Amino acid sequence: MEWWVSMPKIELHAHLNGSIRDFTLLELARALGHKGVIDFSKVEHVILKNDRSLSEVFKLFDLIHIVTTDHSSITRITKEVVEDFASENVVYLELRTTPKKNDSLGMSKRSYMEAVLEGLRAVSSVDVAFVPDSEEPGNLSSPLLSDADNKYNGNNRKKIFVRLLLSIDRRETKEAAMETVSYNAKVFWAKLSLFVTAFEHFTSLLQVMLALEMRHFGVVGIDLSGNPAVGEWITYLPALKFAQEQGLYVTLHCGEVSNSKEIHDMLDLLPQRIGHACFFEEEHWRRLKSSNIPVEICLTSNIRTLSVPTIDAHHFVDLYNAKHPLVLCTDDSGVFSTSLSNEYKIAASSFGLGRKELFELSKNAIEFIFADNVVKEDLRKTFISAAKNQE
Ligand code: 5GP
Repeated sequence: MEWWVSMPKIELHAHLNGSIRDFTLLELARALGHKGVIDFSKVEHVILKNDRSLSEVFKLFDLIHIVTTDHSSITRITKEVVEDFASENVVYLELRTTPKKNDSLGMSKRSYMEAVLEGLRAVSSVDVAFVPDSEEPGNLSSPLLSDADNKYNGNNRKKIFVRLLLSIDRRETKEAAMETVSYNAKVFWAKLSLFVTAFEHFTSLLQVMLALEMRHFGVVGIDLSGNPAVGEWITYLPALKFAQEQGLYVTLHCGEVSNSKEIHDMLDLLPQRIGHACFFEEEHWRRLKSSNIPVEICLTSNIRTLSVPTIDAHHFVDLYNAKHPLVLCTDDSGVFSTSLSNEYKIAASSFGLGRKELFELSKNAIEFIFADNVVKEDLRKTFISAAKNQE
């Protein structure tokens, strides 16, 4: 096995639906074609196309969402995505997804997330630990937790830690939010009414409420994503600040397109991490470096979407040389036909980094994960033992 596959890795920027297997996407699309919901012959080439601009990527996501947004598909995709990452020795995975609502299928944002949890429970090739330590069954917490939800102690089976981030899609409208309110329990209605008047746009707030409600299940933070050419990020600022105040971690897609003011204002929030950082200007780099905000680097995604002109010009090099906190990630392993191992391989061949340097890079990411110290300590041990095995 190649060293970039066998070494332990940490994935911090993976969108659930973007990580779908080609095979699964084609199978689900074909099934919808048979039902007459879509014209499969018209979408097959869209799915199989490899080079896509950023705007074409978002068109593909519209198609993916039509095909995948039902409970059993979300459960299947989650299971497969976790198994795929585990198979290439990802030992800690932060998976992000935008909870969706689909009335015709009886899907609420909460039931969408329950389908994701079912997917985590359905993983069979590896032990999955997704419940935070303080929430383990037996320590009280939610009656919905089962003993099988943290099956990682005391055996020699391969294991993977999974934590979840709820994404806020920049496209979501106030109207959509109004329609989705019903999932929440009374207590959240009460809290909501306190804030609703203060927020012009409260879909994002609902997402934060859902994240808080689902902390027991390994939801650790909020991501702001979706088409960067759409909407004003500032709309979501109150909800993002609220999330931070409540102890949720926040990561932002930042600098995917040229928008100096947006980047400036996003850095003001001091998010716990940012993704991409492709269109940064001198002033942004200076502020990023002085604030030490870790950057989720997605090499293949940035090249495929032409967000950086060539791999040689990628900002990875400057940030790496400046010893800025960095983590290599896939973004959308399905959409961009990549894997985390492949991203490490690309970094090795493009930037002249060796096995040792990339092992260190991977290990350093432990410090930027959104999980607690118990998980961090466990991961440190995993890396120490992997280093010994390599000697
Ligand atoms: P999902 O949230 O449905 O599980 O994953 C797909 C969604 O993630 C997309 O619809 C989009 O909102 C977001 N996403 C995936 N890749 C990217 C990306 O490269 N940039 C941005 N801004 N959003 C993305």
